[in-house]
Amino acid sequence: MGFSQRCKVLLSEYIQTKASRLVEEQWVFELFRGKGYSIFQVEGDTDIYQVHLSETNTPSCTCLHWVYRHTICSHILACQLYSEPPHPEEPDELEEGLTPKEIERLVTEAADLFNPTTWR
Ligand SMILES: [Zn+2]
Repeated sequence: MGFSQRCKVLLSEYIQTKASRLVEEQWVFELFRGKGYSIFQVEGDTDIYQVHLSETNTPSCTCLHWVYRHTICSHILACQLYSEPPHPEEPDELEEGLTPKEIERLVTEAADLFNPTTWR
C-alpha cells in the first residue's frame, strides 16, 4: 500500500472513530427535518457546525474539512450514523462470540491441519 493510500485509510479510520464518538457523546442534534432532507447541528471539538443531509443532494457541512476537501467529514458521518443507526436486532458475531473453550478447540484443530505428522 502506498503512502497516500495508507493516509486515506488512517484518515477514514480517524473520521469513523470520531463520528461514532460524536454520536455516543450526544453532540449531534437534529435541528430540522424536511421532506427528504434534514439539518443537523454538531458540536465538534473546536466549533459548532451545521450539516445538511439530503436524499437527493450530496451531504454538506460547514467545517473546514468539508469546505476545502469536499469529502465526508466526521460531522457528516456522525449525522448519518445518528439518523440511520446500525440495526441493533442483527446479532453482532463478534459479541455473540465463542467461549474460550471453543476457541481453544478451534485453534488446536487448526494447528493439526498444518502439522505434517498428522497428514494421512
Ligand atoms: Zn464537518
